[in-house]
Amino acid sequence: MKLDSKGNIIVGTTAILIAVLLLVCIFTIASIHYIQNHNIESQSNDNFKYIIDDYSSNLELLGRESIAEVTQKVYNGLPVHNSPDQIKKNLNKHLEEKNEEYKEKYDIDLTSEALSVENTDSPWKILFKVKLDGQKDNEHFSQIIERNASIEGLRDPLPIAKLTIASGIMAYDDKIHYKTALSAYMLLHNLDSPESYIEATAPMTIKKCPYDPYTHHGDPGALEDCLDTGYFHESADGSCYLCRLEGKGKCPHYGFEVFIQTHTPLNNESLSCSDHVVFADHYNGEKIDPNDWDSLILDSSHRKKYGLSDYGNETD
Ligand SMILES: [Zn+2]
Ligand SMILES: [Zn+2]
Repeated sequence: MKLDSKGNIIVGTTAILIAVLLLVCIFTIASIHYIQNHNIESQSNDNFKYIIDDYSSNLELLGRESIAEVTQKVYNGLPVHNSPDQIKKNLNKHLEEKNEEYKEKYDIDLTSEALSVENTDSPWKILFKVKLDGQKDNEHFSQIIERNASIEGLRDPLPIAKLTIASGIMAYDDKIHYKTALSAYMLLHNLDSPESYIEATAPMTIKKCPYDPYTHHGDPGALEDCLDTGYFHESADGSCYLCRLEGKGKCPHYGFEVFIQTHTPLNNESLSCSDHVVFADHYNGEKIDPNDWDSLILDSSHRKKYGLSDYGNETD
């Protein structure tokens, strides 16, 4: 009987231990399962986030490419009437290809639509807005993605869009060579001394001038470097990139200007050489250094803006 009761205690304790162990096992398995499920869930959220981030950085590249294609159209001699619309159409094509790529890579269904292409408060950046919808398994997201694309490094479309290829204007060696195109344009508009602008040149690729504030152009060597490299400058009067594509020398947006450099021994009064003056505003200036064939022709307000009011005087 003693043995029996001892045996009972052992059996009872063992049973309790086994039950406890079983409970612990069940709890552990349940916990692991819960944690795993939870991980899968947050992983798939991370997947969406990753896809959206990846898509956004692609938008910057594709947006820029879509602008560059419209620039190429201008350089091919074709007119562009509504540049934001044209850029949107190009972008939608690129996005469709991207969406197929994502379908193959991540098995996700994406649909996208370019909503707008617009100016920003910086003339060097264009803002893209795209509506993006995604569906994978049972999960869905819908988001508007915004991204800026830089226009630095693209070609200036204005000279060709404005004067047309038929004018004889040429683009090579990273420069616009006006040949007789500008003087013909000036003659047509009854502007002073059109012969001064025969063989004028201007930078082709858009580079933001580092001499900021611009009055530093009066510092020794600064203007020479600016002209050698061919920098562009912010200007409230100059036209923005989107309007340049449409051949507008002036527009209501904050834009930029570039110097059109003449190469002439003549010292006649002629158009001030900022491109918005040559193409739209049409007021005169004078050479800042009368002895220099390559001197800029500038009016007094542009001289002030660039710190060039006393330019040429110190060399005398
Ligand atoms: Zn400059
Ligand atoms: Zn504009």
